[in-house]
Amino acid sequence: MNLHEYQGKEVLAGFGVTIQRGIVAKTAAEAVAAGKQLTETTGTQWHIVKAQIHAGGRGKGGGVKLAKNLQELESVATSIIGMQLITPQTPPEGKKVNQILVAEDVYYPGASEPSEFYMSILLNRATGKNMIMYSTEGGMDIEAVAEVTPHLIFTEEIDPALGLLPFQARKVAFNLGLSGAAFKDMTKFVSALYRAYVGSDASLFEINPVLKTSDDRIIAVDAKVTIDDNSLFRHPDFEALRDLSEENPVEVEARSVGLNYVDLDGNVGCMVNGAGLAMATMDLIKQAGGDPANFLDVGGTADAARVEIAFRLILKDPAVKAILINIFGGIVRCDRVAQGIVDAYKNLGDAIQVPIIVRLQGTNADIAKKLIDSSGLNVLSATAFQEAADKVQEAIN
Ligand code: GDP
Ligand code: MN
Repeated sequence: MNLHEYQGKEVLAGFGVTIQRGIVAKTAAEAVAAGKQLTETTGTQWHIVKAQIHAGGRGKGGGVKLAKNLQELESVATSIIGMQLITPQTPPEGKKVNQILVAEDVYYPGASEPSEFYMSILLNRATGKNMIMYSTEGGMDIEAVAEVTPHLIFTEEIDPALGLLPFQARKVAFNLGLSGAAFKDMTKFVSALYRAYVGSDASLFEINPVLKTSDDRIIAVDAKVTIDDNSLFRHPDFEALRDLSEENPVEVEARSVGLNYVDLDGNVGCMVNGAGLAMATMDLIKQAGGDPANFLDVGGTADAARVEIAFRLILKDPAVKAILINIFGGIVRCDRVAQGIVDAYKNLGDAIQVPIIVRLQGTNADIAKKLIDSSGLNVLSATAFQEAADKVQEAIN
């Protein structure tokens, strides 16, 4: 689950990470009120207005603007709220901005120049360790840094059993070229950030920029936070942070009926029981020259009602040219699944315009195959895994 910047910052602050303070607003009037309140509480004279959408690169797209007084704040807020913001990370048509974050200006002049660093925390699956990636070259172009000057990006691996050790936090501060108060503050910042990452069960933190202010404080100016969906049961309070308008509507619907559905770019709809078999099925489709349109795990009870819901979800994707059903009947008997498929097909009537290839293996597979073959429907049965994938390719071509 992805969070908005303002929500991510709240999570960080809850673990003691210093953040650029801000107040979220949905109208220009709310933005002005937020600006006044921020001036009172933080003393800031200028404000920065930031579009809240689930995509980065907002600065480049015109979704982050500075306001030097309340009139400017009002006009900047008016122009950003409701705009269709296009950034390198949005779909081509952009995303509508429903809310903004009005934040204190932290780039004020002072004894030294502010500097922008990059910092992210994620899981390195290859080593089974958490990893802090960081760079002196923070700001709006980290993708270019990674491509052109990758040696300017440092990594620090953290054994999850040991946690972040003090020398590692110091190493980060050292590699970022800091000294004095900024060095000390960075070690605190990194420790708090790591604590937040583990404590919130995140799968990604990306803080770009982490700012060293002109008076040597270290602050999170941006926050991209992704929470591991599998941990949400441990964080009932996070569920309120979900913004359904930012999510794929079919995935939202699937979740509401307890199906595991992930939308993909291909044209072969997949209906499978068990995540492992679903992954293997997608691999096989690829190997046969196809491209899966989705990942769908219907779970253990592949009865007619569930199969019908799964059909409806898959068919919402206009790119789907064929559907492959690959179900292993272990606890659930294949003949019952086959009957479910036939019943669902009949219920859906004209809704199904694409060929369907069914592979059922396991208990009563032979009875199931006979049921499918004699149903008179546009459903092909397959016995072997490869045969099913080949039939799908034939059907599409
Ligand atoms: P992104 O473009 O979506 O990554 O949005 P960010 O939150 O990273 O903001 C983009 C840029 O806005 C930053 O890199 C800064 O240059 C600028 N910015 C952010 N906060 C402030 C601020 O308080 N004052 C000023 N002057 N600029 C800011
Ligand atoms: Mn950023």
